[in-house]
Formats: sequence, structure tokens, C-alpha cells
Amino acid sequence: MHKIVFSDFDGTLTYKEGLSPIFFDVLSLLESKKTPLVIVTGRSLSWGHFLLTHFPYLTDVIVEGGGTIVSRTGKFITEECLISDADVKRLADFCVDFKLKFPNTPLSVDSFGRKTDRAIELHDLQGGMLFSDIEAYLREKNINYSTSNVHLNFWCGEVSKFKAVEHFLKLKGESASDCVFFGDSLNDQTMFKSFKNSVGVANIKSVMDLLQYKPTTILTGDENVGPWGVLNYLKKTM
Ligand SMILES: [Mg+2]
Repeated sequence: MHKIVFSDFDGTLTYKEGLSPIFFDVLSLLESKKTPLVIVTGRSLSWGHFLLTHFPYLTDVIVEGGGTIVSRTGKFITEECLISDADVKRLADFCVDFKLKFPNTPLSVDSFGRKTDRAIELHDLQGGMLFSDIEAYLREKNINYSTSNVHLNFWCGEVSKFKAVEHFLKLKGESASDCVFFGDSLNDQTMFKSFKNSVGVANIKSVMDLLQYKPTTILTGDENVGPWGVLNYLKKTM
């Protein structure tokens, strides 16, 4: 049994950048077992609002790689920002400098809905040179960054999926050892490093060599890609 199921979104609960019927099967299974699902994603704060308002079973979503927790109580949606106002401002100021330094590299469209981080679409960074120039600039300015399946995300302050989950568990009075986390990519590594029960869905194999920290369970086979892997694992362990 799992007290709470935590899961990454892109590539883990989605398939080929879209929601598949399997996502709804995962939700139905968890609902039937009365087990909460908390999505822990690099997607924006505005996406957190979307998920909570469109999937009534969800009550909490951790967004922006751990920068903010968005929660719903009844009809009311609240957000808890996990970095300081000073870091929120430093990031906004950095973005002004960034646009001057890299005028041809747009921030992702969803950066408009972001508060504690910003993103650049990886497909806008196809040239390796540009990617390393931007990395060097982020390092020079002491801005943290990570890559997800789709984005180069960057932020100020101490933000990680694990830090946010740890905070969330403390609020709920639950222990990490009673919970499970599913992920598939580099930005899930803080969870793989510190969360006892972590599961990599089968598509994680594409980044396996790049992972410094690996999940405790690694699923394999076409039948365990993304949401299929989540569903199969939950069916076996609930
Ligand atoms: Mg992912």
C-alpha cells in the first residue's frame, strides 16, 4: 500500500506529449483505493491551476520543479510559494538581462504563467553551442538550472522536487517511506536520490547514462512506458 503516490507528469503520466486514456485509468485506480495522487512537475504554476480545476480527484500539485504547491480545498485554490520574495524578484531581474544577452532565444510561451522558474524550449536550443553558452551564462549569474523532457528550466534559490515533497509530507504528517514516486528524467533526480521508493518508467532508459542518481526500481519493456508503467506497477503493489 502507498499512503500517497507522487508522480512526475511529462513522459511519466503523459505519452508522446499528450494525455492518454491510461492516465485516466491511473486516476480511477487511485480513486478506487482512496490513495491521493500528487503530481510533481516542472510545468508552470498556471498548469497546476489547470490540473486542479480539470481533474477533481487531484487536490495538490507541486509545480515548477518544486517551487510552488498549488492546492484545492472545495472550490478554493491556494498556492504556497517555497522560495523567498527576494529570489522571485532576482529571477525576474535576471530574465531582463537574459533577453538582452540572448535576444534570439525566446523564453517558453508558458514562462508567462511561471512564478518561481522560467523555461526555454529545448527545441529552440538545437545548436550545442548555444546550449553551452546559455549554461555558462546561468552559472556565471549563479542561477540554478535543470532539463526536463521538454525544457531547460532555471530558477533562483533552493528548489527541488524532493525539497517540496519533503515539505508537503511534513504538512500532511506522512512519512516518505510509506509513499512512492514515479519519474522518467533528469529533473527527477533529487527524488531518486533521497526518496526510498522511487520507480523509473521504462522510457527512462533514454537518459539512464546521464543519471547520477537512479530510481530504486527501474521498469523495462514497451509495456511499461510512461503511464502504462505507472499503472502496471500500481496494480501490482496496491
Ligand atoms: Mg518527465
